[in-house]
Amino acid sequence: MKKTKTTEITIETEELFVIKKCDRSIYDQCETCGVLVQMVTLAEAAGIARVSELVIYDQMKTRFLHWKESPEGQVLICISSLLT
Ligand SMILES: [Zn+2]
Repeated sequence: MKKTKTTEITIETEELFVIKKCDRSIYDQCETCGVLVQMVTLAEAAGIARVSELVIYDQMKTRFLHWKESPEGQVLICISSLLT
């Protein structure tokens, strides 16, 4: 049991490290969360979740992930929904 807990902590630390690397990311109002959150691009979201961009796209379609389109036409994903 203790071994499993150690593994979980390691994964969380790695996720936080990845998020810190996304300093360029935009903070914006997430309409679903109703608060200001960090928004990442499709590629960044895929990197953080360690899945392909296609998986992220599927999760956007099923509304599992919160997202919005920037005025420049870039898809931005709510990092809060990505990590839950
Ligand atoms: Zn959100």
